[in-house]
Amino acid sequence: MIVLSGEEQMLFLAITFLISAAINSQLVGVLFPPALRAMMIVLLLTGFTIFAYELYELREGSGLEGAQFELFALSTGILTLTLWGLFRRLEIQNRRRHAAERDLVMANIRRLEVNQRLRESREALRQREREALRLAEEAKAASRAKSEFLATMSHEIRTPMNGVLGVAELLRDTDLTREQADLLETIERSGQALLSIINDILDFSKIEAGKMQIARRPFSPAALVGDLERIMAPLARQKGLAFEARYEGPAVALLGDEGRIRQILVNLLGNAVKFTDAGKVAFRLRVTPLEGGRMRFFAEVEDSGEGISKDDLARIFAPFEQADSQLSRRHGGTGLGLAISRRLAEAMGGELTARSERGKGSVFMLSLVLEQAQEAPESAPARAKERTGPPDLAGRTILVAEDNRTNRMLLRRFLEPTGARIVEAADGRAATALWEEERPDLVIMDVSMPGMTGIEATREIRRKEKGEGRRAVPILALTANAFEEDRESCLSAGMNAFLAKPVKRRDLWQELRRMLDPPE
Ligand code: ADP
Repeated sequence: MIVLSGEEQMLFLAITFLISAAINSQLVGVLFPPALRAMMIVLLLTGFTIFAYELYELREGSGLEGAQFELFALSTGILTLTLWGLFRRLEIQNRRRHAAERDLVMANIRRLEVNQRLRESREALRQREREALRLAEEAKAASRAKSEFLATMSHEIRTPMNGVLGVAELLRDTDLTREQADLLETIERSGQALLSIINDILDFSKIEAGKMQIARRPFSPAALVGDLERIMAPLARQKGLAFEARYEGPAVALLGDEGRIRQILVNLLGNAVKFTDAGKVAFRLRVTPLEGGRMRFFAEVEDSGEGISKDDLARIFAPFEQADSQLSRRHGGTGLGLAISRRLAEAMGGELTARSERGKGSVFMLSLVLEQAQEAPESAPARAKERTGPPDLAGRTILVAEDNRTNRMLLRRFLEPTGARIVEAADGRAATALWEEERPDLVIMDVSMPGMTGIEATREIRRKEKGEGRRAVPILALTANAFEEDRESCLSAGMNAFLAKPVKRRDLWQELRRMLDPPE
């Protein structure tokens, strides 16, 4: 066993203290830099104290020898400095680590903030998407509601108009005084004007909603010119204007929407007559072949009227625009005609343009590309057969399915001169029952009826006929649902022909003649 002297014990204790202080301070210091710094101060103080004590001992001559003291002082100094350096390094490292940790924490906080912002903006984006979808849904619903409203309005207005104009037509056949005949004409004219305004507004809304359907049926362009001349020439002559109509082209049938083309041309010709006080109105239609069996359809309406200024020319195709509102008010009109005509032309893949000069007249041009039709136009034989009187339908039975009492009365009156026997039903169910019972030669079918509609009744009749192997009865749709899609849904349900209300007696007779082919 080694026995240590008092100084050696002191020295040993001091060194042990230094080492344990170093170890402790490292442990604590790693976690807590101020403690580390305190330990360094203690370490320096301890080193210094030992050194001072040894120096004192040396001076007193009781302790170490000079050489021993030097060795001791040197080793204490080296140890103290080494430990101090170690701690210093530790402190620096710790500080750096803490700074790095702080940076890391800050970066983490920033990342969290960025994440939060991202989440928020994603949520906002989703919210906006939901909002956009909701708005789109609302817009769609509004447009649907508008279309439904228009269809209902159209139906609701046409039904009584059918009564007004039909009764006026019947009245004309009675003995009227001159004055009564004049008043009656006013009723008819006002009724027609109201109807054409309603048609314009409905058409325009349909076009705006992108719901305008364009038919593709064969028609004869030459016959179209003849028809338009028959309609417009008397109006021009009434105003003292010359009227010219010319067709230049082959005798072909074209595939297109004759009704809509006619609507555009009637509008252009009507305007030409309306805005020309002297001179003439000329109508030319040129049809020339293009490659691939297609044809260019080019119609020009020229007048020697008041003309349109350059500024106005840019406006008149916009809805509700009139070049000279005072003048137009004098002539009447809604300012929708050209807007509809241009949109119709565009819906048919063509264009409607105009050139004009104030005081020198105007030219409106409709240009379309149409296919040549392989079959002959449907209306050609009917045109050839056109008669004004009632067809002879004696011995035939006609079933009239119509819920409106006035319109049933009107149809009865319209049909009376044909000699046909008339049976009546007020809804689809009654109509199918009566069809079973009476086996009529023809059915005139309204579409909107309470309970079973005309479309459903037609399907039912066609189903039964098929089941029993019976001949199909001709069904004529006579409806206030006057749009192209209404016509299509009637035909696809199995009806054979379509007339829109208000119907003219002559048109009804004409259609019956075509469908039943009575002996003339
Ligand atoms: P409306 O005739 O019902 O007022 P349109 O859209 O058919 O509506 O015509 C718009 C306007 O364009 C007319 O009000 C008129 O000012 C002008 N316009 C159209 N055609 C002619 C024409 N042939 N000559 C002079 N002005 C015309």
